[in-house]
Amino acid sequence: MIVSPLLYILCLMPGAKPKSRKPPARKTAKTVKTSPKKPAQGAKDQGAKYNPLAPERVQDILNRLDQRYHGATCALTHNSAWELLVATILSAQCTDVRVNMVTPMLFQKYPTPQAFAALSPEQLEPDIRSTGFYRNKAKSLVGAAKGVVERFGGQVPDTMEELLTLPGAARKTANVVLGSWFRKGVGVVVDTHVHRISRRLELTRSEEPKSIEQDLMKVIPQDKWIDYSHQIIHHGRALCIARKPKCAECPLENICHAGDKTWSTVEIHQSAKL
Ligand code: SF4
Repeated sequence: MIVSPLLYILCLMPGAKPKSRKPPARKTAKTVKTSPKKPAQGAKDQGAKYNPLAPERVQDILNRLDQRYHGATCALTHNSAWELLVATILSAQCTDVRVNMVTPMLFQKYPTPQAFAALSPEQLEPDIRSTGFYRNKAKSLVGAAKGVVERFGGQVPDTMEELLTLPGAARKTANVVLGSWFRKGVGVVVDTHVHRISRRLELTRSEEPKSIEQDLMKVIPQDKWIDYSHQIIHHGRALCIARKPKCAECPLENICHAGDKTWSTVEIHQSAKL
């Protein structure tokens, strides 16, 4: 190919360089290549918007618990509101299995609130010794029996306000009696299992039972308050145990982000733990 001398000279002149725009074009391409980092950051931000209290997530948890622990009820053996009140007071810092070993003979010996009310705490102590903290429990039981007999005509009251006036009956005990015997869901039972697992599931970040109960009452529909406690207590005994939860077998695994999971298919959050 023959290049004309004039064109050759023009190509060598400094003023000819602006005609070649390729370098700026490359810069633009680099900018485009690096720009995907920003959307990646945005994706992280979207992940940060995960809301453990979203109603759909809470409902999902409740549905899965329903499927796995359908019909779960109170594990304390009882035949009346009074027997349930006694068993619940005895269950503090004690297993339900142990309480169930003690109560049949106890109720045979003292079958009514009146029979308990006639005792001194010291008389009752030997019968409940194996449940631990027996001195305090004996005082509570005799005091509760006197309250039931003297102020409520021998019948265990069915309101939170009245139950809380009985010695030994704090909110947890009152919720157990109201929920399991009277089928009144006026609160959520917060025992050690509900405490631990509600935190693992990020339904609360509170440490105190009273605050945990308030948190749960805000996010769980009231008609599920009774079932939630029963099902979580069963879950805590079967799978979500304190030291080594059996996460690989858990029906909640892929929506649980607890920091102390033993097996996980999802990102875990250090803030969701015991
Ligand atoms: S996945 Fe593990 S920590 Fe989470 S609820 Fe299930 S057993 Fe408990």
